[in-house]
Formats: sequence, C-alpha cells, structure tokens
Amino acid sequence: MNESSSKHPKIRNIDSIYARLHKYLDEIAPPTSNYSQQTEEQNYSLKQFVLGEGNPFRVLISAGIHGDEPSGVETICALFENDIFKNYIDDWEIILLPCLNPYGYERGIRENHEGIDLNRSFRNESPPQEVVFAQSIFDKEFDLTIELHEDDESKGYYLYQKGDHLEDDVLGPQIIHTVKKIIPINDDSEIDGHISKAGIVTTVEDYKTMDWWPMTLFSISKNSRRCFTLESPTALPLEKRVAAHISAVEMALNYFTKVFTD
Ligand SMILES: [Zn+2]
Repeated sequence: MNESSSKHPKIRNIDSIYARLHKYLDEIAPPTSNYSQQTEEQNYSLKQFVLGEGNPFRVLISAGIHGDEPSGVETICALFENDIFKNYIDDWEIILLPCLNPYGYERGIRENHEGIDLNRSFRNESPPQEVVFAQSIFDKEFDLTIELHEDDESKGYYLYQKGDHLEDDVLGPQIIHTVKKIIPINDDSEIDGHISKAGIVTTVEDYKTMDWWPMTLFSISKNSRRCFTLESPTALPLEKRVAAHISAVEMALNYFTKVFTD
C-alpha cells in the first residue's frame, strides 16, 4: 500500500472509457466479468467484453496492464468507433480486456495500487486480483493473443512474438511492414536487453525456467498459438500510436482469417 492517491492524483477517468465501450457493446456483448479490485479509494470493476461468442477462431486483445500506457486502451475504443471489429465478428470470437489496471490508468502510473507491476506477476503463487482476472480468461485456448503496450524510451514501434507454429513467424515482419507506413520502427539491434532486428525482438530464455512471467508467457503456457506484445513509442502523438496499433491488430486478424479459411 505504498501508492497513495495524493501522491498520484487522477489524470484520467476509466468510467469514460467504459462509457465509450458500453455505447457499442451493451446490445451485442454485455460485459461478463464479475471481477473487481478493491483499493483504498474505490472499487474498480475489471471488465471483459466478448464479441461473436462461439465463433471458431479465438483472439484475446488486452490493454492497460501498465497504467501509463494509454494508447492500448484508446485502441480498443477506436476499434469499435471506427467499425473495424464488424469485419471480423462473423468468424472470430473476440475477447477484450480494455483495461487491466484501472487504478494505474487513472493515475498514469505503471503499477497497480500496491505498487505491483502486474505484467511481472503471472507466475506468482498468489497474484494480484487483476492478474487472477486475466488468468481466468484462458480457460479455453486462443489462436491469437495481442497485448497492447507502449515504451516511453523507444523512438519507434516494435513487437515481441511467440508461438510454436513457426510458419506464423512471417506475421511479425508483416505487421512491422504495415505499421511502418504510419510511424517509424525501432530498428535498434538490442531492445530492453534482447536481440532485436527490424522491430522484432527475440527472447531466448526458456519460459519454463523463468522466475516471473509476463502475460504473454502465461498465454504461451496455456497453448495459445501465437502471442504478440506490441510496443508503440510514447514519444509520438497518441493518435499515431493508436493508428499503429490498429493496423497491427488488423494485420494479425487478417493473417489468421486467411490461414484458417484457405
Ligand atoms: Zn507495458
């Protein structure tokens, strides 16, 4: 309990995000989560929305696990507001976690109300409630999981991809190719201590031996076919970061729609 509200005043309002989503979703996909996180200040509901329930292909799109990375949360709103999901809801079951860390989101801080980095807590024996909530979504396997992030030290977009179907490795570069039309790519040869090439970061550790897991490794452990962590550069305008994330999400969905229907 080391983060007080006076130390971190509210700079954003999660209810306005939920209101934007409810406007589109109440009829077709009422929120289904019963999870919430009680903090000293208030009780935050942790929301899940499901589109196209029962459809053959399954994707999870999540955002806001780091509260200081608002472009992912905005991207999920924008995917509705720009009518993009309607291209996919005949084939896909789309599960959306619009904001996994509403406390942090409202205050623009990375961690939750207990100062915990939720995206380091997916292998904890007793993880924070936000993580328990996210883990509960993996009761069925996903073809694709996409986590929307930002990097405040990066000058360009980059991504991590993981999955056992090596033929899907081509998708990472395809995403980078399409994002590059919107914003610059981080083409450093090392990002966050990992080898990187043309915006694709390669991690070499065996996840089974790691002490901690981010959400993406939990996703792999639950047999998701392909997992993306997408990183947009905070230095660029929000609008651009959102546009880049949207194009990445569309590319990933298009790729698998083609793979599964051809
Ligand atoms: Zn992040």
